Amino acid sequence: MSLVVVGSVAFDSVRGPHGCVDRMLGGSATYFSIAASYFTSVRVVGVVGDDFADEHHSVLLTRGVCTQGLERVAGKTFFWAGEYSANMNERETLDTQLNVFATFQPKLPPHYRQAPFLFLGNIDPELQFAVAHQMESPVLIAGDTMNFWIEGKRAELIRTLSKIHALIINDSEARQLSGEYNLLKAGRAIQSMGPETIVIKRGDNGATMLQGQEIFSVPALPLEEVYDPTGAGDSFAGGFMGYLASHGSNNGGLTHAKFRRAIIYGSVMGSFAVEKFGVDRLLHLTREDIDARLHEFQRLMHFE
Ligand code: AMP
Repeated sequence: MSLVVVGSVAFDSVRGPHGCVDRMLGGSATYFSIAASYFTSVRVVGVVGDDFADEHHSVLLTRGVCTQGLERVAGKTFFWAGEYSANMNERETLDTQLNVFATFQPKLPPHYRQAPFLFLGNIDPELQFAVAHQMESPVLIAGDTMNFWIEGKRAELIRTLSKIHALIINDSEARQLSGEYNLLKAGRAIQSMGPETIVIKRGDNGATMLQGQEIFSVPALPLEEVYDPTGAGDSFAGGFMGYLASHGSNNGGLTHAKFRRAIIYGSVMGSFAVEKFGVDRLLHLTREDIDARLHEFQRLMHFE
């Protein structure tokens, strides 16, 4: 089943304990698309500027991602810069330049509109809403957001939340959005804004899903080296949605058990993303690598 994603396609500058990289390919839709491409066919919606070269575009094409919905206009591509603390658990945004995204009006190609699965990646909630509105008969719409939009476009974000079935969000943003410190209360408060399923990403503490009254939690895979956490959340979302899209049907068929398995595939893809700077590690995986890591998760979580 095909999967549409809207989100940022960006150049990122990242600093951290393992060094710094300037203007590498990034963005929420980029990480998401590459991760999801191991599971299903992915169609990306977004905009890039005239500084986005063929070598960047071909990264998506080599993973079989459809880029008909990726517009190219005069101007500069979205730019983000961030710095990680010594323990890699905290990140400070140093710069966000919306550039060509500031005036973007998404228009979905006709074959995108029929896709049953949609992911509203981290981007202006008004754009998320405009894309959700163009879909003809979505089976599952999931979304993500971050502090930048919770602070800057709260009302628009709340409107988008009323359209989606699942929200994938990190712990500090769940607290900020709900005003609740306790994550269970935060998740319940966000459920009351619309989405039935809330997945709270907790960095190297794993992830917790609330679905209706059900709760499911997974640890993060302990890793010896974490080079660059950028995009871990989007790669998580790509594995999660990619798995669901490859196991869903036009009339749903998405059981709670499938959502639980999707959380593990999300954790698998997030764990790969952090092992190298940018999209490097994600680009060079095989299905065997992914399945081997799934088994590592099973061993980690198994008990008699
Ligand atoms: P993550 O580490 O999964 O939270 O996502 C990091 C990616 O989000 C980076 O590649 C950035 O380009 C992108 N990003 C950062 N800030 C924003 C924003 N305000 N809107 C959209 N994308 C963003």
